[in-house]
Amino acid sequence: MKKLTPVIVNDLRYLDELAENDSLHKTTFPELRDQKQVLIQAYNDYVVNCGNPWSIAVPAINDKLKSGLLSHYSSPPVSIDYLDRIKDSSPDVCPMCGGFKPFTRDHILPKSDYQAWAIFSKNLVPACDCNLKRGTALKGNIATQARVLHPYFDDVLADRLLSCKITHRSNYRWFDLDIVYVNPIHPEIASIKYHTRNIVIKSGVEKWLKGQLTKLKERPSTVIQTLPKRRPLTEERVREGIEDCLDRNDELTGSKNNWLSILCHGLLNSDGMVHWLTERHNATLVQP
Ligand SMILES: [Zn+2]
Repeated sequence: MKKLTPVIVNDLRYLDELAENDSLHKTTFPELRDQKQVLIQAYNDYVVNCGNPWSIAVPAINDKLKSGLLSHYSSPPVSIDYLDRIKDSSPDVCPMCGGFKPFTRDHILPKSDYQAWAIFSKNLVPACDCNLKRGTALKGNIATQARVLHPYFDDVLADRLLSCKITHRSNYRWFDLDIVYVNPIHPEIASIKYHTRNIVIKSGVEKWLKGQLTKLKERPSTVIQTLPKRRPLTEERVREGIEDCLDRNDELTGSKNNWLSILCHGLLNSDGMVHWLTERHNATLVQP
């Protein structure tokens, strides 16, 4: 999860070029030329409503134009040269789930249901395989207007939204771990929860966090890389090291909701974890 600045794309200029391109007669010509004003209105509507699916009106375009736009997304004409720029615009963190390897793109309004925005740059964000795991999840309960958060429009994504609660059993031999919300009474909590359940958790964050706990058990400095590998530390110094790791990783990724920061925040705020980490750190120092 990350608030992201969109790449600069003049979508209307691209529409103009595609609309007049008669070599695209198998896909969008002349449908795009004939229905261009409807699409321009749909693009404007999207921006005015910040991509909110509860507010946007789905435009009436015919089936040939719908399938032509989908075709342009899967096999872009030469003139559409911005898709890779969008894919590469957040190299360190996935803006949808907070994982670390965004290698593809996701449509905020899924292209299978909202074909009019299939190639609209503001509807496309970099993403990892959470894109597939999400499927077409978009809207939740009508009463709360819950929905997927939008990296370009939802400023709330710049806040720290997620942490984890770690509980230990049998003298730290077993851990339970749950994703928790930093501010459970946040004004946007319905959408924060919807997005977290349908994208972040489906993407495998809990499994990843539990894997990091196993690594922490073996040697904390492998995961919390701000801890020295050879020097014993007091509990206070370990706490400072985790705080430092949190701050650095927030800054490195430009996101307070990347998975490592979720782990650091959870370690700092779960009972007994800094004490346990200090014991593990001092017991597993690298010998010179
Ligand atoms: Zn992702």
